[in-house]
Amino acid sequence: MTATLTAAELDAADPLGHLRNEFHLPGELYLVGNSLGALPKSAPGYVATEFDRWATLGVEGHFTGELAWKDYHTLVSDQLARLVGAGPDEVVAMNGLTVNLHLLMISFYRPTPKRHKVLIEAHAFPSDHFAAESQIRQRGFDPADSLITLAPRAGEETLRTDDILAAIAAHGTELALVMLPGVQYYTGQVMPMAAVTAAGHAVGAVVGLDLAHAIGNIELNLHEWNVDFAAWCSYKYLNSGPGGVAGAYVHRRHVTDQSLPKLLGWWGTNPSTRFEMATDFDAISSVESWQLSNAPVLAMAALRASLDLFDEAGGIGPLRAKSERQIEFFDQRLAQVLGDRVINITPQALEERGCQFALRVAAGDGKRVYEALEAARVLCDWREPDVIRVAPVPLYNSFTDIERFVQILDGIVR
Ligand SMILES: *Cc1c(COP(=O)(O)O)cnc(C)c1O
Repeated sequence: MTATLTAAELDAADPLGHLRNEFHLPGELYLVGNSLGALPKSAPGYVATEFDRWATLGVEGHFTGELAWKDYHTLVSDQLARLVGAGPDEVVAMNGLTVNLHLLMISFYRPTPKRHKVLIEAHAFPSDHFAAESQIRQRGFDPADSLITLAPRAGEETLRTDDILAAIAAHGTELALVMLPGVQYYTGQVMPMAAVTAAGHAVGAVVGLDLAHAIGNIELNLHEWNVDFAAWCSYKYLNSGPGGVAGAYVHRRHVTDQSLPKLLGWWGTNPSTRFEMATDFDAISSVESWQLSNAPVLAMAALRASLDLFDEAGGIGPLRAKSERQIEFFDQRLAQVLGDRVINITPQALEERGCQFALRVAAGDGKRVYEALEAARVLCDWREPDVIRVAPVPLYNSFTDIERFVQILDGIVR
């Protein structure tokens, strides 16, 4: 469909092309939003507003005006809810991603001697692996018995849906928790989230997702898919800046369940009585009851700048539509210009991939190719053992960026 159009023509016809001007894009080409999203030009202003409020209001900033810090986390709830396909009572911005995984596993991983296994991928992001392993140990179980790691078939790069579902069925009544990514960080594969959730529930297991590489990248429908819990970071596709505040989702059917074990803090208790400083915990009837501490307002201000740009784009729907055209264009140009000199291990089908490409150089030394890209100021990333990750992000990357990347890569690999 795009075979005859050039990058310049595609950019000219792109209704979201102007949003690129809203970002600082370092280097010759910035194609690494999968690792650290670009800085919105508006973000320093959002943060400066909070510095100004601090300077002029001091402690009264907690209680004053529409930006009152005591409620600041609620300013992003609707926007995050739209991005993950949930209600505002089901999402909260808080903490870091791995912290949130731990907090949610405390509630949702409730092993018994008969049902104690956690299923993750063999190639899970190390932090997720460590979190699962340490949760298992905390409950007095042994990861050697309780941690199931699922690997692709020999000679294959990505997990087959049938194999995931078969593994869930096979561990059946021993399976307490399935914890998988929405989008795999290395290969870029989109996991079959709805099918995994249904399969997990069918055997009586809880299903949690790590959406680090999914939020802001692909369309999500956590509530409708019945996912029990999820967590994400915001410094990748949500452009909140290094160490930006993460997020958590809990399905509505669980948010008021006071029988769930939970670590408590004062930010989880009823805000209308919180400052009476009583010690009877009165859980907020939303996922906010998982909050421990008052919100990191400066970090959240930066996140708000980016979320407002998602709104300006019309949400994830139009962005994903553009992303699909960019993926097709990138596929086509790689095939035409580089042929079989570069292999993309990301699945081919659009519904099985986000905007990230995981490229392997067919002959020779991928690491040296990556270093040459670095020297040319093409910002992308290298993941051991042998993959160059490149992500055209529809919010700020153009079709011309993709074309230029293909040309530079061709020059290096040649
Ligand atoms: C980026 C990423 C992390 C990083 O964890 P932090 O707690 O934000 O440092 C964890 N898991 C996955 C799958 C990631 O992609």
